[in-house]
Amino acid sequence: MSSSVLPGHPHIHHEGGHLHVEGVRLADLAAAHGTPLFVYSKAAMLAALGAYQRGFAGRKAKICYAMKANSSLGILQVFARAGCGFDIVSGGELERVLAAGGQPGDIIFSGVGKTRREMRRALEVSIACFNVESEAELDTLNAVAVEMGRTAPVSLRVNPDVDPKTHPYISTGLKGNKFGVAHDRALHAYRHAASLPGLRVVGIDCHIGSQITTTGPYLDAMDRVLDLVEAVEREGIPIHHIDFGGGLGITYNGEQPPAADALWQQILARLDARGHGHRALMIEPGRSLVGNAGLCLTEVLYLKPGTDKNFCIVDAAMNDLPRPAMYQAFHAIVPATPPQGASATYEVVGPVCESGDWIGHDRELAVRAGDLLAVLSAGAYCMSMASNYNTRGRAAEVLVDGDAAHLIRAREDAADQMRMERLLA
Ligand code: PLP
Repeated sequence: MSSSVLPGHPHIHHEGGHLHVEGVRLADLAAAHGTPLFVYSKAAMLAALGAYQRGFAGRKAKICYAMKANSSLGILQVFARAGCGFDIVSGGELERVLAAGGQPGDIIFSGVGKTRREMRRALEVSIACFNVESEAELDTLNAVAVEMGRTAPVSLRVNPDVDPKTHPYISTGLKGNKFGVAHDRALHAYRHAASLPGLRVVGIDCHIGSQITTTGPYLDAMDRVLDLVEAVEREGIPIHHIDFGGGLGITYNGEQPPAADALWQQILARLDARGHGHRALMIEPGRSLVGNAGLCLTEVLYLKPGTDKNFCIVDAAMNDLPRPAMYQAFHAIVPATPPQGASATYEVVGPVCESGDWIGHDRELAVRAGDLLAVLSAGAYCMSMASNYNTRGRAAEVLVDGDAAHLIRAREDAADQMRMERLLA
């Protein structure tokens, strides 16, 4: 029987026309759990993590998985067991890490709008570090920590004003973005932080954007951050760790981002050359750890020929896969069951009542109703961004580990969706 690995997806292969993730046939998962269904390869996640671990071999470095990319508990467990810390951006994410068995001392807390309640809870469990994004936040965190008789470990997220050359919605390190403390205010902010009794300065961090596919922006950002480290330490404020954020891109449609180990070799060489090789390092990768480890399995509901376009209507939609509607993003779509019928060009669309509910434009497919398709590169920023729009239950999720398939999230039904609502008297 013919078997072929999908290019760029070593843990996904076709066998006799049937798509498999590791040793599991997707048609079997669809029969057992229904569609749309997110399916993740544990081996692919660990392989992606392994590239970072190789890049940091011999260094004092902590990889904190940016769980906004995919915050399902089963995914967090895989990374916690592999020794990762976590980059969180909300109190909800904090509770998820704890529920998945992550250690508070391995958590860093990013985000421009932390509330007092979130700060209190994070201090209560003693997280590793608050990545503070403004001078006003320094004051609030100080007040909360003093009130609790605690000292909050802080790193300042500086905005290096570097163009990551990615989609504007996922650029975060430019002057005009809401993120971080402006580079030219950072020294002042560090002096302020060091003067506050409830804070202890421990680090510096930056994050310039997401889906970055070239090395240059990272090196530019690092130079800007190191300039600041040197300036801050000249003031007698020691910086214990440097956190370079996340942002490394993945291949959705022919992009060729550097491999994580190759990227870090270059960054570390620059760090060494500037005399900072001894520093403790942190990074916050999200997409590059899970993006290509996941796919969304969907069933073809109807084929609808049109005068201008043919539509292939599937049971996944923009509420499951929001990236096309949000960023005009591309996801490859491949057959998961043996192709049938004549090949034609389709707009692949979901059932949601929006013309923005598209999953792929102009896709050449040989399909009939009832066939299964796999929307690739759906491990990151899909399930974690999924909504209930049109009162659609969120999809189920399965984690594949070799020949075993673990249901890590059951499909949401209408009762689940209405549970928090109250009828009028
Ligand atoms: N760290 C911070 C502060 C972020 O805002 C993000 C994403 O926007 C990440 C890490 C993860 O980025 P990525 O998923 O591109 O690696």
